[in-house]
Amino acid sequence: MQKLWKYQFQWDEVVPPDIAIEWKTLSQDILFVKDFKILRYLFLDPDNQFQLHGFSDASEKAYAAVIYCRSVSNTVQIKVQLVIAKTKVAPLKTISLPRLELCGALLLSKLMDFTCKAFDIPISQSHFHTDSTIWHYVSGNENPADLATRSVSSSAILTSLWLCVPEFLYKECSFHPESSVPTLNDSVSTLNEPVPGERCCVQSTIAANHLPNSNDLFQKYSSLSKLKRVTAYCLRFVNNCRNSKDKETGFLNTTELTNAINVLIKSVQFIEFNNEINALKRNQALSCRSKILSLNPFLDNSGILRVGGRLRHANIAYGHKHPILLPKRPILTDLIVRHYHEILLHAGPQLVQSSIQEQYWIIGARHVIRHLIRKCVKCRRVRASISNQMMSDLPTTRISPSPTFLRCGVDYAGPFQIKASKGRNSKSFKAYIALFVCFTTRAIHLELICGSEEHRVRFLSRIKEDLRNQIVRRRFHNE
Ligand SMILES: [Zn+2]
Repeated sequence: MQKLWKYQFQWDEVVPPDIAIEWKTLSQDILFVKDFKILRYLFLDPDNQFQLHGFSDASEKAYAAVIYCRSVSNTVQIKVQLVIAKTKVAPLKTISLPRLELCGALLLSKLMDFTCKAFDIPISQSHFHTDSTIWHYVSGNENPADLATRSVSSSAILTSLWLCVPEFLYKECSFHPESSVPTLNDSVSTLNEPVPGERCCVQSTIAANHLPNSNDLFQKYSSLSKLKRVTAYCLRFVNNCRNSKDKETGFLNTTELTNAINVLIKSVQFIEFNNEINALKRNQALSCRSKILSLNPFLDNSGILRVGGRLRHANIAYGHKHPILLPKRPILTDLIVRHYHEILLHAGPQLVQSSIQEQYWIIGARHVIRHLIRKCVKCRRVRASISNQMMSDLPTTRISPSPTFLRCGVDYAGPFQIKASKGRNSKSFKAYIALFVCFTTRAIHLELICGSEEHRVRFLSRIKEDLRNQIVRRRFHNE
């Protein structure tokens, strides 16, 4: 199915031969599923000790997790049985194998949590096995989850490790002697009871090549406020880890949100204006090739690059005098423009630009703002042109030459309040206008019809009467 999605086939299209063969093999193989039997009884003798053993693995096609229950009786009789398994296909987006292995590990953790909660009996130990040394290491040959990450025929799975269970689980004492890493339960108990005089050191190493690109973070969120809040929570987590005594909890405050946006801006500026920032830090002059040389940039107290400009003595806010410099390419700039466009209720480019410039100076702002507003779905919907009906052919009377007002239309407009004479005290009264339009020349003739509603009715009845006359009917068209 994933392959069909990948190649974007329509439902009525013929699939290529290799996929057709694969499908045929699968449909023939699925007939053997009826021989596949899973025992529902889990030999739950309450006197036994129960352990859960989870295995996870990943391949480029899929990642999977499987859990077995190992029961040890008082007479040291060991039984192992499959409890639950879950497989997920790898995402269409290319992901590295180590990351997929982590996805598999996460799947196993969730599955183990679910299984522990579902069991009514006490579980003495939970063990996690994978081909990583973080948990119990298990080779691919001994890992049943490996089968779920690649295509295995139904007939083969009956005799495979999946149902026959890894042999080392039947061993009496340590089920996996090679592993020296403590189990999850052990580690928790050790952490709770610190040994006096002993110090535990944890060292973490991050390879520079694996540092996430800040663009990856920006691409995940389509709104500036969400990105800001996520960053603020991440920063809070880092601060809380560093200062375990004075932890920050509860809602995010303004300072945290401001710090978050500053961090995001600095990361963007560091990538785009690296040379300029380095030169300013060393108190050197900017390169004459620099695009921002004319803006006279400087670094403020928090290390953000701002426009120097010529407004130093202006009586306006600091952010307006020295706006933050932003390049036009990064996604952060787009998010800021979109944010301003939305809080200004989908305003036009000029208003958005002037509002943004109270805080930020985007290079090529006009073009960036216009481009983004053009792409705004809501604005596009509002701007959409209204569809017009096709007009019918003109009547013969309109396009045949004839004397003026030989054939005309009549319309009636009003009422209007008009005065009989000039001056303040003159009385005003209702009046109507009869409009005669010549069909041939489009010349118009206006006739004032004074009087009350009765007059109007009388005029209309007169016109109707005229229309009854055959001769006049040819000449008048009342709309
Ligand atoms: Zn809009």
